[in-house]
Amino acid sequence: MEAYLAGLNEAQMAPVLQKDGPMIVIAGAGSGKTRVLTMRIAYLMSKGVDPFNILSLTFTNKAAREMKKRIASIVGNSEAKNLWMGTFHSIFAKILRFEADKLGYPSNFTIYDTQDSQSVIRAIIKDMRLDKDVYKYKQVYNRISSYKNSLITVKAYFQNPELMEADAMSKKPRLGEIYKAYVERCFKAGAMDFDDLLLKTNELLNRFPDVLHKYQNRFRYILVDEYQDTNHSQYLIVRALSDKFQNICVVGDDAQSIYAFRGANISNILNFQKDYDEVKMYRLEQNYRSTKNIVNAANSIIDKNKTKLEKVVWTANDDGGKIIVNRLLNDGEEGRYVASSIFEHRMQNQMNNGDFAILYRTNAQSRAMEDALRKRDIPYRIYGGLSFYQRKEIKDVLAYLRLILNPKDEEALKRVINYPARGIGQTTMDRLAIAANQQGVSIFEIIQNHQQLNLNINKGTLTKLENFVNMIRNFAISNETHNAFEVAEMVTKKTGLVQELKKDGTPEGIARIENIEELLNGIRDFVEEQKELADTTGSLSEFLEDVALATDLDKDTGDDDRVALMTIHLAKGLEFPFVYIVGMEEDLFPSAMSMNTRSELEEERRLFYVALTRAEKQAFLTYTLSRYRWGKLVDAEPSRFIEEIDEEYLQNMVPTDNYKYKPLINTDIFGDDVDRSKLRQNKPRSGTPPPSHKPSPEQLRKLRKLKPPSAEPEKARNTLDLSKGTEVEHLRFGRGVVVKLEGVGMDKKAEIDFDEGGIKNLLLRFAKLKVI
Ligand code: ATP
Ligand code: MG
Repeated sequence: MEAYLAGLNEAQMAPVLQKDGPMIVIAGAGSGKTRVLTMRIAYLMSKGVDPFNILSLTFTNKAAREMKKRIASIVGNSEAKNLWMGTFHSIFAKILRFEADKLGYPSNFTIYDTQDSQSVIRAIIKDMRLDKDVYKYKQVYNRISSYKNSLITVKAYFQNPELMEADAMSKKPRLGEIYKAYVERCFKAGAMDFDDLLLKTNELLNRFPDVLHKYQNRFRYILVDEYQDTNHSQYLIVRALSDKFQNICVVGDDAQSIYAFRGANISNILNFQKDYDEVKMYRLEQNYRSTKNIVNAANSIIDKNKTKLEKVVWTANDDGGKIIVNRLLNDGEEGRYVASSIFEHRMQNQMNNGDFAILYRTNAQSRAMEDALRKRDIPYRIYGGLSFYQRKEIKDVLAYLRLILNPKDEEALKRVINYPARGIGQTTMDRLAIAANQQGVSIFEIIQNHQQLNLNINKGTLTKLENFVNMIRNFAISNETHNAFEVAEMVTKKTGLVQELKKDGTPEGIARIENIEELLNGIRDFVEEQKELADTTGSLSEFLEDVALATDLDKDTGDDDRVALMTIHLAKGLEFPFVYIVGMEEDLFPSAMSMNTRSELEEERRLFYVALTRAEKQAFLTYTLSRYRWGKLVDAEPSRFIEEIDEEYLQNMVPTDNYKYKPLINTDIFGDDVDRSKLRQNKPRSGTPPPSHKPSPEQLRKLRKLKPPSAEPEKARNTLDLSKGTEVEHLRFGRGVVVKLEGVGMDKKAEIDFDEGGIKNLLLRFAKLKVI
């Protein structure tokens, strides 16, 4: 047997060795799904499958690169180079470039990022003179995006009275028109947005059977990681491409489906067996990533979800420490606690910064963490949020580069035609835009042909416009013989961008120049890597595509040692020895926006499962007593998810103040109203305790039948015998008297007058009340 297969257990081996036919691997976090995909590709190649015939779809391009490196170390780089690996968007953008002409697009089409798309939509709303408070451009963008991901084209939209009615009901009767105008403008600019990359691929495969056959024959083996988070559009592509050979292997975990809000469809995983003939289903049960405490705690969480496939996850790893829960006064203290905890563990365990991750539900939470890490001189990197490529100066350079490739790119042109200032004003731009509209061509073409037109623009300005166009055309000529780095360097010098920033002279200006230098370094690395890993020249068009589709994780070169900060959504598939999950509070996590229905709440719970299962050695949960939300300081309650973890895996910390720089309150920061013993007291245990060693077949059978370990604590609270006048005690608000009751069952609410906190309206289902 091949040596590399020794790194697989028996259950993992089976899907690796099954060469042909449809198969699905369903398994919990950390059980080696991604490893199976990697090894499977190596194995296919060792059995003589041509790497050109293998297509592997991953969640990030970084994941693809790592897989490729691993495979290269087994089969050799020259072979691994030819594998098709990447995200849906990056792979199908490549295919669309080959086939662009069939859809009426230039092969050098631009890929609009979210900002570009939203800016087009904003302009349309303005041009149509619609009320921008009703037609909020971000909402409109999301709506259009969801249409596209459900393959509802403009034509389909106008044939569907229900959709039109729904938009009219939400006070946006003209949404369809905006959609239409948006699609037209993008087309005219030779641009596709992110969703188009999937939508147009579907169109291509549907409308052109010969193209479909070509790619079916090409991609004889298809593999998909994180299958639970594919949306309808992606599903259809995979379906179409794999239809002929049916050599399709998908891996996923329904418990980690966290993108429903963006159209991911969990039924893709549930229905896989119906879509293909004789599907082989594999399950992996051993987790290699985390300690027993983490695995068991995560199991106890996900058991609370009703909609799920029954799964067993166990580990042979050590027990490890219990999950540490800590309660802080506010986010400032939360940050200080996390920073000092990282500091200590790094020292104690001789770890690197990169071994630590701080995960949060919303990007806004990063600020307090950043402040604290900075004060402690702990290097960190934030993923998500405003990424490098979204900074103004970087977008300016990129806009020039985009324009070189695609002069029709209107968003790019508008951005730089008068930056650095060239004396081309808004009136001129308006006249050009009107002419472009009348002639049905781009602004760039209007300028090129201005002699044949009466533009009503003075001669001086016309010369400036000509100079601009000529500059871009000269760049385009150079681009034919130079790589991306050489062209970009030329652009930064010759456009006057850098000089402009130098003139500025402020620290911000200098920081911007440094960023541009950083960009050039990045492009140089890209060119090198492209030559090394993909055997291409590292052209400008390759680079721009890489940038347009890079997720934030992709920029992580991993060459410096930093603590990672990111949202839980971004952390999917990753692993870190130490993980801090911060902001474990009601309304924040679970998010207030996602508690309307059971399915939303279950998605939040899956998100928590994802967060917890990123940890290898130790997980920490923190919550605060009060937090600024929408500009107001509000009381915070601990997240129900903390309670849902079986108590035996938790360690509630006795509050200490050793992470404070100066004591905030002299004595006990938690005041007297809290009975601390309650934080530590054991909740009733239920069910069979999860196994601490590999379970026997008998135990496994039992485990598989295991019912969710009780909603008992919930029920207990829910059936509290309360009436008007009952005296109660609340974990945080202290003693109070019930003044009013309303609602029934799960929605039962009580108005309680607390001695300290005044009147509070509490949902009994969640309120931590005790009758006294
Ligand atoms: P997730 O659901 O989070 O994506 P996953 O199922 O894809 O997780 P992997 O990332 O493939 O799991 O594996 C988790 C960790 O366990 C990795 O560090 C991997 O190298 C390790 N691992 C997987 N299988 C084995 C094995 N048979 N022997 C040793 N280590 C393994
Ligand atoms: Mg994985």
